[in-house]
Amino acid sequence: RMRRWQVECRPEIDTFTPGLLALYESLKPSEEHKSKQNQLVDSLTKSVSKEWPDAQLHLYGSCANSFGTSHSDVDVCLEMETGTESTAEALLKLADVLRSDNFDNVEAITSARVPIVRMSDPASGFSCDICINNLFAVANTKLLKDYAQIDQRLLQLAFLVKHWAKLRGVNETYRGTLSSYAYVLMCINFLQLREPKILPCLQAMEQTFTMNVDGTECAYFDEVHHLQDFGADNKESIAELLWAFFHYWAFDHDYRRDVISVRMGNTISKQEKNWTTRVGNDRHLMCIEDPFETGHDLGRVVDRQTLRILREEFERAAGVLQYNDDPCVTLFEPYD
Ligand code: ATP
Ligand code: MG
Repeated sequence: RMRRWQVECRPEIDTFTPGLLALYESLKPSEEHKSKQNQLVDSLTKSVSKEWPDAQLHLYGSCANSFGTSHSDVDVCLEMETGTESTAEALLKLADVLRSDNFDNVEAITSARVPIVRMSDPASGFSCDICINNLFAVANTKLLKDYAQIDQRLLQLAFLVKHWAKLRGVNETYRGTLSSYAYVLMCINFLQLREPKILPCLQAMEQTFTMNVDGTECAYFDEVHHLQDFGADNKESIAELLWAFFHYWAFDHDYRRDVISVRMGNTISKQEKNWTTRVGNDRHLMCIEDPFETGHDLGRVVDRQTLRILREEFERAAGVLQYNDDPCVTLFEPYD
């Protein structure tokens, strides 16, 4: 595939910015949504503390990283001593407790990479994933939240990309496409690579926050209120950035060679990570390095067929923004 560095977006691209921003506003969760979420956390806290009085509840994922929409689930991490009990045993016990407290559809999924209890809350209708002692998720939630406070274009871009991915059917890890978390990392890395930069690389700066998770130091600069003007020299609009994002993933990213790394604020080579051959189920065809669990490739779920689907979708999206008369509608047409 030829690299098309010279391609520029259509001159009138900015006329689509108001429509995209209106869509972004409509995706943000309402106050009512947030208060229902808090009620769910309260009732969950009550249930859990009966069995584990010292357990601490952390929200993670999009209900806490500021990338949540009104359709997002609620992700909760319990930090607690499990004693001699394994995490799986604790999750099974938790599932019993939640069932007896009348939560719906309670199911312990103990075979997943990160074992969870999934359930739904009859009061709010929200679905909720609960994990135990997965503090990497708590750390990366804070990292994403801090990035979101530096330049508002990150939230705008990521909401639109997540919305697009859900509607186009490419946000399903169990079918070989990417998680919401992976898409947000792609957005952050993309904005780190703009000229001039829109986002810094917080992990390459002075460490003002550190959290040790299972022997791994999760450290970065978290005084983001000092970085409010960081992206000010870059005047690109959200329409331009959305087009450039899709264009990058359709035509410019070197899938054979590169790994995107929010940790380095750059792309790095598969070679230096030893991600050049398939190991077990990790195919490393599309490589997205987790910022803290650096051995973890968020693109590991992608296979040859889904990589082709993803690239076709990126290409379609770039094309729609480039040529379509009504891109704000066409871009998000559900795939069926
Ligand atoms: P959504 O709005 O779609 O629910 P989300 O950010 O909550 O978006 P989830 O897929 O529910 O995304 O994941 C919740 C959190 O779990 C992520 O924010 C991240 O902290 C963690 N996580 C999800 N997938 C992975 C993964 N493959 N590897 C590591 N952490 C992950
Ligand atoms: Mg979630």
